[in-house]
Amino acid sequence: MKRPFVDAQTLRSIASEYPTPFHLYDERGIRENARRLHQAFAWNPGFKEYFAVKATPNPAILEILREEGCGVDCATLTELMLAEAVGFAGHEIMFSSNMTPFEDFQLAHKLGAIINLDDLTDVEYFQRLPSIPETVCLRYNPGGNFRLTNEIMDTPGEAKYGLTRTQLTEAVTQLLQLGVGKFGLHAFLASNVTSNDYYPTLAKMLFEVVRDLQAETGARFTFVNLSGGIGVPYLPGQEPADISRIGAGVEQAFQDILVPEGLGHLAIMTELGRFMLAPYGHLIATAIRHKNIHKNYIGLDACAANLMRPAMYGSYHHITVAGKEDHPCDHIYDVVGGLCENNDKFAINRHLPRIEQGDLVVIHDTGAHGFSMGYNYNGKLRSAEVLLRMDGSTKLIRRAETPADYFATLELPIPSSRT
Ligand SMILES: *Cc1c(COP(=O)(O)O)cnc(C)c1O
Repeated sequence: MKRPFVDAQTLRSIASEYPTPFHLYDERGIRENARRLHQAFAWNPGFKEYFAVKATPNPAILEILREEGCGVDCATLTELMLAEAVGFAGHEIMFSSNMTPFEDFQLAHKLGAIINLDDLTDVEYFQRLPSIPETVCLRYNPGGNFRLTNEIMDTPGEAKYGLTRTQLTEAVTQLLQLGVGKFGLHAFLASNVTSNDYYPTLAKMLFEVVRDLQAETGARFTFVNLSGGIGVPYLPGQEPADISRIGAGVEQAFQDILVPEGLGHLAIMTELGRFMLAPYGHLIATAIRHKNIHKNYIGLDACAANLMRPAMYGSYHHITVAGKEDHPCDHIYDVVGGLCENNDKFAINRHLPRIEQGDLVVIHDTGAHGFSMGYNYNGKLRSAEVLLRMDGSTKLIRRAETPADYFATLELPIPSSRT
């Protein structure tokens, strides 16, 4: 059974201070999970997690992760600017972009980030930078299907990312000539995988490619970047990934493949987003409408503009009602927002306790790829983000948008009815 990280009484008092809807984050959960990750990879002295900023681009969250020893993984100019503003610098920043504008490379270079090249043509861009970085990462795309114990997990052959195996050799050769001294290898082959085999399988593949590339080109590899992709149990009863077993599985592959080749110095890096944050965020909304037609609807003051995953991917997000966590789920509802778009449904045919107008509805596992995928369709405004701190106090870490924000990019007076 999934329970919110905050009890109903606390939640009501938070909601009396910050109007719904808002995203609420649990500092304790974030820190404890980050410590479990570091524990699982403690066998690798160079281990570093680069939190994927796109998952939760909030400075207060990035600061917490920084205190826990994490760096950041950025993909765009503004993500780099955010990282810089929070105080990340140099090799605390991984820049894993694709179809990259030159301007973005310039800023990544200026900040001293590790640049993760996504294509052979990026090497040409590289030569236009003020200097050639000492360290470069390369993103690998093996093509075909990616399987775990015979189940097809994803189809890299259809993915726009990375270099082919032959292009890797070509890129390393060219970069060596340009004076690059240290290399890393990266791949991201499947998303939201709770199987404990994903990282170990990916690691084995990357370790073998590093071994072969080093033998072919003489290049010195110093790290392997396993990227993101570890999943979280969105469904009640779903088995979570066991990070200590995952760490041990990667260590086994490391011992089997790298250590015998004299490559035991390689650092393991990760770019987890979802695993670091998803379970530690809730979208808090108020039930504002009941509607009974061919089906029974609960209308929330939140909508897909606050959490796009159900509309975009049909994703399951667990829902509880504050104070009714243990009530029988003897009603069937579609829980919806107010967009003029029929996929604006947080849940379809969901068994829930009876919901009254004014009930606080908790949508679970929204801490990653939640707020950040928000948009302004129908003129809906982005919500606030609130941090529930270790000591039980709360902090507004992003204010809600106002109509003035919505009108900010237009040369239009704001209608006086709302000023
Ligand atoms: C999105 C992304 C991540 C994070 O993925 P999660 O599924 O949130 O772990 C990491 N690296 C890159 C390059 C990404 O695009």
